[in-house]
Amino acid sequence: MDVFSYNYDRKQIKSGILHIGVGNFHRAHEEFFTNKLLEYPDQQHWGIHGAMLLPTDEHLYKSLIKQDNEYTLTVCGRNGQDKTYRIGSLVSLDWSLENPENILSAIADKDIRIITLTITEGGYNIEKSTGEFILNDEGVRHDLQNPHTPKTTFGYVAEGLRRRKSAGNGAVTILSCDNLQHNGDTARKSFMSFVKAQDTKLAAWMEENVTFPNSMVDRITPATRPDDVVRLNTKNGTNDEAPVYCEDFIQWVIEDKFIAGRPAWERVGVEFTDDVTAYENMKLSLLNASHTLLSYPSFLAGYRKVDDAMRDERIVRFVRTFMDIDITPYVPTPSNIDLDLYKQTLIERFGNRSVSDQIARLCFDGISKFPIYVMPNLIKMIQDDADLTRVAYLIAAYRHYLKYRTDDKGNSFEIAEPWMTQKDVNLIDSHEPTDFLSLSAFRSTDLMAADAFLKSYLTMVDAIKSNGAMSVLESIL
Ligand code: NAD
Repeated sequence: MDVFSYNYDRKQIKSGILHIGVGNFHRAHEEFFTNKLLEYPDQQHWGIHGAMLLPTDEHLYKSLIKQDNEYTLTVCGRNGQDKTYRIGSLVSLDWSLENPENILSAIADKDIRIITLTITEGGYNIEKSTGEFILNDEGVRHDLQNPHTPKTTFGYVAEGLRRRKSAGNGAVTILSCDNLQHNGDTARKSFMSFVKAQDTKLAAWMEENVTFPNSMVDRITPATRPDDVVRLNTKNGTNDEAPVYCEDFIQWVIEDKFIAGRPAWERVGVEFTDDVTAYENMKLSLLNASHTLLSYPSFLAGYRKVDDAMRDERIVRFVRTFMDIDITPYVPTPSNIDLDLYKQTLIERFGNRSVSDQIARLCFDGISKFPIYVMPNLIKMIQDDADLTRVAYLIAAYRHYLKYRTDDKGNSFEIAEPWMTQKDVNLIDSHEPTDFLSLSAFRSTDLMAADAFLKSYLTMVDAIKSNGAMSVLESIL
């Protein structure tokens, strides 16, 4: 298949953005838009310098370095037509375990005017019941005591900005691209809390010199597994050790609050607005919450791919009813959006055969996802005495998934919950199903006090244990 190469001289590109967390989503979304933008001669100072901060990034880092940070992105059409692009916008890349100084220098560099982030929902280190930054986290404690040799994103950004400030290199924007409600406000909370605890003079400088726009990001990007690498290279006739693939839908809506200038991303389809709240709310409440809603029941039913689960009418009905009955009343629609069409498109996107997203990816880190995607609307539903059957079923299915780690077909599986505490483990291990409702994921409300929810949840817990997840799902459709 043809690979569409970028149409600019890569040697002429200068970095104006430092990105932390060069995972698959970033490489399918911000790099995709920026790669197109760099074709404009007046935008060639907006290349991207990547930074990876985790030991687990080693393999991807080394693969990208070997190919001068270029990679292929295959965009999978809902019509079955795929298109592959060679992406050149990631002009340099550093891994903190190898080149920590390069990352700090880049944050301090005058030419870098935006720091973008995809460090996952849990990466902001926010306590779920209070919404406060956790100062008593091991990595954070290390960085507070060792400001010049940081380990966390917060420590890196603080030390880099300290150097930027003393060199007189001016203001910078920090732009979160993670799936969080008000991701800019959350990023501000995390970075400012850290810096206030470490260096009050730097905190005062940041108040004047750093902005944190909110943004809504959207493009389903599965993890690239080793068999995908072989599949994509065979199909594309390439030899790429780090290919990415994603769906054809893409959206990025950003608050226009860039203190040190920004790329003209609007030329390639990015939307700028004064208030991103309605877009964020719609996307997190419908797309991300539906992903979470379908993930645990589908996994327990034995499905491993989202498109396979979306061929099961029961799952489609479950998701669509959740969107229409449970969530729509709480979603003010942005003026240029047709909500019915948006929901229908979501169903089509989830069913995209050539994306074939992993359900395990959706199940990953539920502890961080529930508080953002599910709890805000559940709290409103409880207040409004709404029908809580579907959400009670979801939470019972989540417990079953975490506790028994065996699906309806008897297959056992591993779970991936990087932010699970020992207390969470004890609550899951407990024989008493009500204990599970004190999991850190649900701390924003007292689910035990919600009688209707509790009754429904306890019924679902027993029924899933006796009859399996799918049979219970059928009974509530
Ligand atoms: P990924 O696993 O491919 O990449 C995650 C990246 O985040 C890695 O580079 C990792 O090193 C970094 N990271 C994780 N925890 C970190 C921490 N504590 N500190 C610093 N860096 C950290 O995952 P992905 O698919 O790229 O998704 C990343 C995030 O992007 C999601 O959590 C979500 O917020 C957002 N997102 C993803 C999608 C998608 O479909 N994949 C869609 C919209 C938004």
